[in-house]
Parts: sequence; structure tokens; C-alpha cells
Amino acid sequence: MNEKKKILLVEDSRLTAAMVGDFLVKNGFEVEVVPTGEEVVQRIGKGMIPDLILMDIELAGKMDGIETADIISKQQDVPIVFLTANTSKEVIEKIKKVKAYGFVLKDTDRVALLSTIDMAIRLHEASVYATMFERLFETSVNELYIFDPDSFKLVVVNETARSNLGYSSFELEKMTIFDINPQFEAESLRDIIKGLKVGKQERVVFNTLHRRKDGSFYYVESHMQLFEYRRAKYCMVFSIDVTEKKKVEDELDESKKQYVELAQEAPIGILKCDVAGNIVYVNKKALDILGSPGEQETRCINLLTFPLLVEAGLSQKLKESIENNVPQTFEKFYKSKWGKGVWLRIHVKPLLNKEGMVKGAQIIMDDITEKKEMERQLYEMSITDPLTGAYNFRYFNKRLEDEILRARRYGERFALIMFDVDYFKSFNDTFGHQTGDLVLKAAVDMVKGRIRKTDVLARWGGEEFIILLPNTKLEDAVKLAEELRQRLMQLKIGEVDSVTASFGVVEYQEGDTLDSIVKRVDDMMYKAKNEGRNCVRY
Ligand code: GH3
Ligand code: MG
Ligand code: MG
Repeated sequence: MNEKKKILLVEDSRLTAAMVGDFLVKNGFEVEVVPTGEEVVQRIGKGMIPDLILMDIELAGKMDGIETADIISKQQDVPIVFLTANTSKEVIEKIKKVKAYGFVLKDTDRVALLSTIDMAIRLHEASVYATMFERLFETSVNELYIFDPDSFKLVVVNETARSNLGYSSFELEKMTIFDINPQFEAESLRDIIKGLKVGKQERVVFNTLHRRKDGSFYYVESHMQLFEYRRAKYCMVFSIDVTEKKKVEDELDESKKQYVELAQEAPIGILKCDVAGNIVYVNKKALDILGSPGEQETRCINLLTFPLLVEAGLSQKLKESIENNVPQTFEKFYKSKWGKGVWLRIHVKPLLNKEGMVKGAQIIMDDITEKKEMERQLYEMSITDPLTGAYNFRYFNKRLEDEILRARRYGERFALIMFDVDYFKSFNDTFGHQTGDLVLKAAVDMVKGRIRKTDVLARWGGEEFIILLPNTKLEDAVKLAEELRQRLMQLKIGEVDSVTASFGVVEYQEGDTLDSIVKRVDDMMYKAKNEGRNCVRY
């Protein structure tokens, strides 16, 4: 401390004031002289804080030094040393009554004066520090305990701990750390303390329970360390009540658990992957959709490189989402590693980290195989004739239109065959309508079995059919018609021993429209009818 200590000298004798003041200034003090007690009280009241007051007992004003000291000590914590001319019993008794650091005889030697002043200032400083630390200890928001590491007896417990526990200082004096923390065991606590003693660790931190006087418990986070005081070791524990924190954590854990459960049991498939395509989460439904035997097996798959996924175009979509941070929804057919073919409706959503960078993706998938199958069936139904399974008139016209456009644009050739069962009415009349139906079905099956996949067979009317033959010359179409005519004759349906039909064949010609080409093939078919039936005309 380089600053000069400030002494307020209260002395009504000018001579003494000058002599003592001079001496003190020479010894490095800053000195201010005040002649009366009233003036001292006034100065202190205005906020003056000297490091020491050196006060004469007999003063000029109404108040003597003792009264002045009494008033001052109630206002300000300043060390006071009395200057007195005598040490009569009366004076000593008076001095004892007020808070003072001592007295010095006016005619004492100067060395004693200096040392008394010095001692008083130092003692006062020490007591200020002690009070400060005591207050810090007492008013800390954390619970503080000091206990004996051998007997485990509590030595000091602060206000926060006392109020949390509900014990008084008096009650705690007779207790050990185990009364507060029933989770501790003497054996293990000794081990911990031993570790601290040999300096393995400076402090230990643990989460534990404290028991209140009323028997209830609360959660604490405790820090324990050793310190030495007057050659003895003490254990100091500071504890923070973490009951609220624990409650929030428990609630968070619980809601997290519920979300995980919800996701696990959700009726849609959920997958999560990192940017590299490694699966980091998969729920039950996702395993089910993929036909996977288990999570382990599924996690081996990398979503960006697994061949079947790459093949299905799923990896590409996922890559796009991750690279460009865009969500996507699409439908794809995927044949899983475990042999299950499924139509999936997939929603890919990039997942971001705290910095806003893509850290992976969430994939939600729905098995829409049934829906797709239904759609397919509905579509099939809309384009086929329910009795024979051949395409219907409407679908055929659409295909024929497309084919005409292709022929016009690219010069592709195509042919049409039209055939009508001969004397079909008589099958109905002779064998019944059902047999008639069977004949139609059999004829369609036979033709379907003979034509190419790209050819289109449709029921044009009652027992009249038409075949579109893309990429076919008239000559080849005529050959096919002839073959179909002969095969038809060989059909045996119930009691019917022979079915014949009349065939008309045409090829697309430049300038043909749908109507013109259909009319021509119809004309050819009628020509066959007129020229004796069971024949091909072109
Ligand atoms: P043609 O040799 O001149 O073609 O004589 P046809 O008897 O075959 O021709 P017509 O047009 O006189 O008779 C066709 C018959 O086909 C009339 C109709 O009752 C019958 N028919 C139409 N559609 C069906 C069907 O879906 N099932 C059955 N069983 N008969 C049908
Ligand atoms: Mg007919
Ligand atoms: Mg007919």
C-alpha cells in the first residue's frame, strides 16, 4: 500500500496537536487536526473516512473523546486510539466501554505511539477482510459446508444451507455430513478425501441428494475440496440446488422419449441420414416398408451409393436435396435388397445444423403400392373390354391417331386388320348367348397369343375386332390375317366345332385420316363377307 494513511487527530491543545501532528507527518502519515468532538462527528457524517482517529479524551467542546467515539463507531467502522494524559481507573473504565483499539499516554515515547497506531490500522484492516469473507461465506447463494475430514463433523454451515435444510447452526454443530447427505458412505467418502489429500485431484464434483430436517430430499450438484487452516485439514463442500434444473431435464428427457416412441410407432416410414448418406435413424415402419429384417441390416446401407437405390434414382434425388438444400416430394418404384418391390411416395427434407448448414436429410416414405395397383387396375378397366380383355374402341382410336401422326411425321408404315365372325348370330341361337361369349373370348385369346406386344387388338363392335400393327407392311399383315383365319377355324369351343371370320387388311397411305383408313379396312372386311366369308381381302 503506497498511499499515505490518513490520521484524524482530535486535540484541543494546539501545542500537543502541533507536536504529535508534526511527528506523524514526518513518519509518512497524512494528518488532519480537529479541536472538538462535534467537528469530528460532523466530518464523519459528511463521509470522511480516515484510516485512524487519534483522539484526546478531554476536549474543548461539550462532548469528550469517549462520547465522540461512541457516536462515530455507530456511523463508521474507523479504528480509534485515545490519547490520554493519565491512566486513572476512571479513564480506563470509560475507554473499555467504547469500541477502541487502545490508548496512548500523551507523554509516552514516540516509538510506542507509532507502533500502537500501526498495530491499530493493521488489526482493523484484518478485521475488515475477515468480516468480508465471513459475509461472503454466509451470504453465498450456494450452500457451503466445512466439515472435518476425519470425524465428518460439520464445522461451519452457511445461511443458504441452513435455510435450505431447515436446521439452525446450533443443531448442525452436532451433526455430520452424513446427516445431510445420506447417499455418502463413510468408506467411499474416505477414499475420495484420500484422493484429494494426495493431490490426485484438486476437487471432486458429484450430483447427489440432500435431506432436509423434515425428511424431504432435493437434488444438488456438489463440489468438494480440501483446505488447510492452522495445520489442520478441512473439507469444504459447496452445493447448488439443482432440483429445478433436474426437473426441467427430466421433463425434457420424457418428452424426448415420447417423440422417439411416436416416431418409432408412426404409420409412415421415417429415415434420417447424414450428408454422406449414412443412415442415422430408421423407424419400424421404414423397416417394414423395405422388408428389412432389422435396424442393423438397414444401417449398413448407404443411401447415396447403394446400387438398388442408385438404380431407382432415389440416391440422385437425395443428393440433389442435400446439395441444394431443397425439399422434394416424388413417387418411385423401389425394389429393396430384401426382394420387396414397393411403390414409395417420398418426401425428402434437408436437416440443418445450428449454423444453418445441411447436416443430413429426413426421409419420410409412404408405401403406396396398393394405391398404385388400384390406379393401374382402374386405368386397365378404362381401356379394355370387360368381356374379352381386348382393348376398347376408345383406346384403340387414341392409339390409331398416335400411329397416324407418327406415320405422317416419320414416314413409319403400319397396317390394320379388321375381322368379323361369320354367322355369329347362329352360335347364339343354336348354343345360347353364353357359348357366344366363350367364342368371342377364345378368339381374342388366340389372336393375343399370336400378335406382337406392340400390336393393339381391340373389340370394335359386337363380334367385330380390329388390330393395329405398327411397323408392318401390307404384305406381312395379310400373311398374319391368313394365319389368324386358319387358327380360328381350329378353335373348339364346347359344341362349336368351327369358327370362321372374314378379314379385311389395309396399310396406311399418305393422306389417310382415321376415318379414311377405318373406312377402307371396313370395306375390305365387307368385301370378304360378300365374296363368300372365311377369307382375307386387302
Ligand atoms: P355375318 O356373317 O354376316 O357377320 O352374320 P352374323 O350373324 O355374324 O352378323 P349379325 O350382325 O347378323 O349378328 C351379330 C350378332 O352378334 C348379333 C348380336 O346378338 C351378337 N352379339 C353381339 N355382341 C355379342 C356379345 O357380346 N355376346 C354374344 N353372345 N353375342 C353378341
Ligand atoms: Mg358377323
Ligand atoms: Mg357383325
